[in-house]
Amino acid sequence: MSAALSVGAVKYKSRVNGPGTRCVVWTQGCSLRCPGCFNPSLQPFGDAMSFSAEELADRLATVDGDGLTISGGEPFDQSEALRGFIEQYKELCGKSVIVFTGYEAAELMGSVSKRKAMMLADAVLSGRFAAGEIWENKRLLLISDRIKPEEIRPDGSMEMSVTNGEIFISGYPACSNAEEAAI
Ligand code: SF4
Repeated sequence: MSAALSVGAVKYKSRVNGPGTRCVVWTQGCSLRCPGCFNPSLQPFGDAMSFSAEELADRLATVDGDGLTISGGEPFDQSEALRGFIEQYKELCGKSVIVFTGYEAAELMGSVSKRKAMMLADAVLSGRFAAGEIWENKRLLLISDRIKPEEIRPDGSMEMSVTNGEIFISGYPACSNAEEAAI
């Protein structure tokens, strides 16, 4: 059995995290500490849901939709578990996988475990978050030809949902002021 993945949130159907309708998993824990982080509640490690790769993949592979997006927190801080999860998900349903990460391409390539996980995805949006300019430092790494660059560009759409009494906002604003767009 693969290493357990620490997860902060799961959304079964999202239309603002990549092309089509996608499941989204936000991993819990991030070591990068970007100034102005837009997901600070997902920075701490621990105190999260924990799933084996098989269990989480089983749950998501049967959901109608176009694929899976993994965000965070920092997915590659759990690269062994991430790799097992992507592998299992693809084996079960064959749909596309996109990963959003704060690591730079060179950092991903320079670590064997991160690189192995990265190469299982179809596209990786990499680079540190720059407060106020959400797309400024981002670089899209296309691992396969299943995702088109224009499908990742932000269109300003946001989703709001209520889970356990808490309001959850998701999506990527197109304007330079993320706070303004999220409220
Ligand atoms: S990588 Fe994402 S979650 Fe981590 S500190 Fe930066 S903005 Fe926050």
